Amino acid sequence: MDVKILNKLKFIRKKTFIWLCAVLGKMFYFFRLCEDKPGIIVLMYHRVNNNLPPGPMNIQVSRFYEQIVHLKKHCRVVPMAAFDSFLTFVKNESNFKPTVIITFDDGFRDNYLNAYPILKKLELPATICLTTGFIGTNKTIPLYKDMPLPDYLSWKEINEMAEDVMTYIPHSVSHPMLPELDYEGQKKEVAGSIQEMKLRLKQGSCERTFCYPFGGFKDPTTFDALDALGIKWALTTMPGSNKRLSRNLIIRRMTMNGYDSMETFKIKLKGIDPGDA
Ligand SMILES: [Zn+2]
Repeated sequence: MDVKILNKLKFIRKKTFIWLCAVLGKMFYFFRLCEDKPGIIVLMYHRVNNNLPPGPMNIQVSRFYEQIVHLKKHCRVVPMAAFDSFLTFVKNESNFKPTVIITFDDGFRDNYLNAYPILKKLELPATICLTTGFIGTNKTIPLYKDMPLPDYLSWKEINEMAEDVMTYIPHSVSHPMLPELDYEGQKKEVAGSIQEMKLRLKQGSCERTFCYPFGGFKDPTTFDALDALGIKWALTTMPGSNKRLSRNLIIRRMTMNGYDSMETFKIKLKGIDPGDA
């Protein structure tokens, strides 16, 4: 072979090698950067109500207020849509404040009566996971049979909250254990809640995110159903922080227990279950 061509080939090979090293180096640096970040902490509340005893699904209003004030001062509270721009904000993260998303499951009316005024006052975004078959009805569950009706939000209240701090994600129509249903049954529950939200909500809908009722899902049927409906993110009840950058159907959340002290709360903001601490 001609010496000139041989030298040219050598040159191209050398250039390609340098380019590859640079790309791999950048990728390695970026993934290390993301690994070192605490990730997103998603908090899971249900009720905020002084007429019920504190417990895993209910927190007193004064304790909730104390926690929200702490989040305002010490954390960066982001809306649910932040998952879509996760890549950007992890890269741009310039401080060590924990990044937090606030969620409420099911759509209880006390979210409007007690939690919303506090969130609105402190201008912090939050998301309610709607069991659409219960919204705007007098339905109740045995645990709350003595609560005044309606115990669930109305679409009017939901739309009012969407004007400032609140966004919404589907949480099924009837709150079943999804793994007990077949593929079609699961798809019907998810699609039904998305459809109802499309019909009723004027704004604030995050339809690419889903919240599993009881945190239950089955691989592969639930994931297949979510895929077919274009769901990109799905919230579980498994504790921990979230560092994955791509589509994630197993988003971890920290359960906010009504018995939590401020110390326990602060441990949870690190994505650690205090039972394991
Ligand atoms: Zn639920």
